[in-house]
Amino acid sequence: MRIDLHTHSTTSDGTDAPAALMALARDAGLDVIALTDHDTTAGWPSAAAALPAGLTLVPGAELSGRWYGPRRPGPDGGDGAAEPAGNATRPEHTEVVRGSGRGETVFRPDGGRGGRTADGSAPGEGAQAPVGLHLLAYLFDPAYRPLAEELAKVRRSRERRSEKIVALLNADDIDVTVPEVQAYAGGGTVGRPHIAQALVRRGLVGSVDEAFAPEWLGRRYRLPKADIDVFTALRLVREAGGVPVLAHPRAGRRGHIVPDAVIAELAQAGLWGVEAGHPDHTPDDREHVRALARDLGLRVAGSSDYHGANKTIPLGAFTTDPEVYDALIATATGTTPITRC
Ligand SMILES: [Zn+2]
Repeated sequence: MRIDLHTHSTTSDGTDAPAALMALARDAGLDVIALTDHDTTAGWPSAAAALPAGLTLVPGAELSGRWYGPRRPGPDGGDGAAEPAGNATRPEHTEVVRGSGRGETVFRPDGGRGGRTADGSAPGEGAQAPVGLHLLAYLFDPAYRPLAEELAKVRRSRERRSEKIVALLNADDIDVTVPEVQAYAGGGTVGRPHIAQALVRRGLVGSVDEAFAPEWLGRRYRLPKADIDVFTALRLVREAGGVPVLAHPRAGRRGHIVPDAVIAELAQAGLWGVEAGHPDHTPDDREHVRALARDLGLRVAGSSDYHGANKTIPLGAFTTDPEVYDALIATATGTTPITRC
C-alpha cells in the first residue's frame, strides 16, 4: 500500500487540477492520496468525481496555524489560548526566517530586533515569539460552521495580502496585476506562489522557488496574513470529527521550524500525529521527529507535499505506514475516505 497524505492542487498552490491530480496519483502507483489544499475544501468534489478505480481519496486541508504562546486555561477552565479569545484568527506579527548560518533559524519579532535560535529545543524562558505552523486536518466535516468560517477568514486574508504585495511590486515598477495573479489561482485560493508565477513569467526569477528568496517574496515583498490560533484550530478540527497532524515541523527552509516544546503542548491539546517523512526534512530531522513522536504518543506520517510543477518533488516521495492510515480512518468521524465502486 502506498499512501501519500499531503498534496496540493490548483485549488491552492499546486499546478494540477484536483481531477488531474487523482489521475497522476494512480499513475504514480499510489493506493491512497489525501488532498490537502491550503485552508480550503473546494477541491474535494472534483477530486472525488475524478477518482480512478483503485485509488482512495482522503479529503483534507492544510490549515495556516500559529502558536501565540503557551496555552492557559480559559476563564471557564476551558482551553483558552495565550491571548484573549474572541477573534481566533490573528494577524501575524512575527516572522520566522532563515538565519545566516546553516541550520539556524532566527525568530525575528516585528522587523527583526534581536534573534533567537530555534534548534528544536524548548523555546526558552520568556520566549513568546509566535510560531507559524501548518496543521494537516483529515476527514473532518466540511459543513461544520465554526471551522468553515475560520478557513474562510484565512482565505480572505490571503487575498488581501496578495493585493498588497502586488501594490508593493507595482511601487517598484514591476507591472504584476491582481487579475493576472487571480488567473494563476484559477478560481482557487490566491497565494504567494501565484505572485511567484507572475515573477517567473517576467523572467525576474528563474523559478517559483527562487521567487521566495529574501530579495523577493521571502522578505522584501513579504507581508503577514491572518492565521488561526493553533489551539483553536486543533479544537475545531476535532469538533468537526477530523484528525489533526502537524506538517513538516523541521522544514526550516520554509520558515516553519516548530520547537519540540511547542509540539509537546500541541500533543496535549489534541494533536494526533506529526509528519516525519517530508522532502524538506533531513534524515536527522526525520529521526528526531520519530523519537519525539514516540515520547509524546503521536502517530508518524510521511508525505510528499506534492505541488506539481511548483516544486520538483514527485507524488509518493514519502509515504505513510498502512497501520497509521488505518488508525487515522478509525479515529476520524467527520467524513470517510472515498473510493469509487
Ligand atoms: Zn503542504
